[in-house]
Amino acid sequence: MDKDLSEFPIQYIKGVGPQRARLLNRIGIRSAKDALSYLPYRYEDRSTIKKISTLSYGRMETAAGKIISAEVIRVPGRNLRIFELVLNDGSGLLKGKWFNQPFMKKNFRVGQEVLFSGVIKRNPYWGGFEIDNPEFEIIHDGDDAHIHTGRIVPVYRVTNGLSVRQMRSIMFTVVQTCMSGVHDCLPSEILQKYGLSGLPESTMNVHFPVENTNIDLLNRGLSDFHRRLSFDELFMLELGLAVIKRGSVSERGISFKPGGRLLAKLTGSLPFTLTQAQERVFNDISKDMNSPQPMSRLLQGDVGCGKTIVALMAMTVAAECGYQSALMAPTEILAEQHYITIRPALEHLGLKVCLLTGSRKEKPLDVITSGEADIVIGTHALIQEGVVFKNLGIAVIDEQHRFGVMQRALLRKKAKNPDVLVMTATPIPRTLAMTVYGDLDYSVIDELPPDRKPVTTRSFNASQKEQIYTFIRDEVRNGRQVYIVYPLIEESEKTDLRSAILGKEAFEKVFPEFRIGLLHGRMKTPEREEVMTSFKEGGLDILVSTTVIEVGVDVPNATLMIIIHAERFGLSQLHQLRGRIGRGTHQSHCILVVYKPYTDEARRRIDIMVKTHDGFRIAEEDLDIRGPGEFFGTRQSGMPDLRIANIVRDGLLLNDARREAFALIEKDPGLEGYPLLRRSLETFWKGKIELFKTG
Ligand code: ADP
Ligand code: MG
Repeated sequence: MDKDLSEFPIQYIKGVGPQRARLLNRIGIRSAKDALSYLPYRYEDRSTIKKISTLSYGRMETAAGKIISAEVIRVPGRNLRIFELVLNDGSGLLKGKWFNQPFMKKNFRVGQEVLFSGVIKRNPYWGGFEIDNPEFEIIHDGDDAHIHTGRIVPVYRVTNGLSVRQMRSIMFTVVQTCMSGVHDCLPSEILQKYGLSGLPESTMNVHFPVENTNIDLLNRGLSDFHRRLSFDELFMLELGLAVIKRGSVSERGISFKPGGRLLAKLTGSLPFTLTQAQERVFNDISKDMNSPQPMSRLLQGDVGCGKTIVALMAMTVAAECGYQSALMAPTEILAEQHYITIRPALEHLGLKVCLLTGSRKEKPLDVITSGEADIVIGTHALIQEGVVFKNLGIAVIDEQHRFGVMQRALLRKKAKNPDVLVMTATPIPRTLAMTVYGDLDYSVIDELPPDRKPVTTRSFNASQKEQIYTFIRDEVRNGRQVYIVYPLIEESEKTDLRSAILGKEAFEKVFPEFRIGLLHGRMKTPEREEVMTSFKEGGLDILVSTTVIEVGVDVPNATLMIIIHAERFGLSQLHQLRGRIGRGTHQSHCILVVYKPYTDEARRRIDIMVKTHDGFRIAEEDLDIRGPGEFFGTRQSGMPDLRIANIVRDGLLLNDARREAFALIEKDPGLEGYPLLRRSLETFWKGKIELFKTG
């Protein structure tokens, strides 16, 4: 087969057909290529064929012999038919049993040679060796291609209607028939340098390993064959990122002149001095802005470290040089919050700030187009068609983990090569950040503003109501404010709302003397703004809310957060929520209210939250619990899916792949000398690279 495997429909593989193709589609296999990258999730060693007389009870064993009988037996008085197949290898007898599958009989004839694998049981009556539902393999004369037993066999995840055995047979056919379509396109210097085995060889062996392959390495995804395939995938990923990055670097952007009067006025008016980390990061940003190449920088910093002010400074620089800025936030509430805090600070400098969100009726499109608006704050609405900037100079994306590469590219398209600054509170190890946001430069604020007191965190059972009430009462009486957060219940947004509404009513009964407000995502924008403003200005003591306050809400006087049903929240969400308090100089407290029963994993999350504040540690634990795909949300971010490599497990490989990919693009930006590689790259990124070129 010399066709492009990614275009070869799985249906046309021998033995598949339309019905099985539908089942395979369900597990993401559409083409022969998809099948080849659908790796076994574990392996079983069935390669040692034992003499029947030496089998041990209770162990997983493999043995072979000639069929001496094949009978369906009816069990009297019970509606049960058992197909029994007896093998003899000269040293002893081994019986295989299939329950209520009389049709199995037609697969076998007496005299055939058959291999069995399975857990050896002892016959309760006569004590012989038996296997229930053995994996089997009929050995044909001169046929040494064992698929299901007599070798290290792959075990695949399957779906309803498709057995592991059928899947294994299909994969065997794919591997047998498609190898001529597997082309090694890695430059041979790289293969040599890292001692990587060939692609066809690795592909074949990762599915059907040769004898004596280390089963432990196979099962951990670390065999040489796995390493080669992972390297390929990581290399493609990094190559794409290198192309994107080069694309933006080679463009000409704006050369801003930072350091003007407005900027000085802004920093002079702050009620605090910048931390050293903020200074350092702003310095990175100033350099980028000054350079004629467009900035693409990731700014990472834990919740509460003060990223917003750094963004404000950058936007002020742009305004001072006559350019517009956009600040894009992932939720309307966050956009509104930014608007409420930023507008006074910047209008004070004589700049015009406006807000653009989907649900706001008045859309300041005219002032954006005319250039009258200096700073536009908004949500996704900012990247919609119809929003035309006069001269966008810098785009800031807040809480980047909610947005992806695609949105970034769209925002960039709103102008001719504006500078782009993305900010995230997801504290991830630098090397991983480089991968997930690999087309970006990287700065980190690794310092919290001084005199922040760490938040104390404890967990309470739902039954400990009185203690919780006492906490609330004390805080409010001391002039502080309280958040009470209800979880998002997945089944329905309505129940979600109801629990917050009912919660508010319940708290009103307990605390008739306190002013209690309610905030949720379904409220009309003006209402929401009113509630938030009121809470911020101290007009409310308690804010009952759904998780909409997860990001960005900044009310330093709020010092107590009660999270109801904390067992239902993910770690990073808990961390984000807790980041809403501990923002002022008063001691803050977080109370996690847990309801039984909860899972061990939930317990683990709660324990971690109680134990540590370190966003970095929390992220590590989260990564460990959820796995990289979920953790980074790579799918939603528009990055290609990794099907083989695991960026945590394969961290070292990733570094190598990155280094080589960037070096190659440096040397041959258009991959002119590597047409095969170029095509694979385009398939891997599914055309997205093109988008970036024009963006
Ligand atoms: P995040 O990085 O989570 O977006 P914010 O930018 O919202 O954090 O800042 C959190 C709070 O810290 C805000 O109230 C902000 O005014 C305050 N803040 C920022 N920088 C400093 C600083 N250097 N010293 C004291 N407070 C600061
Ligand atoms: Mg923020």
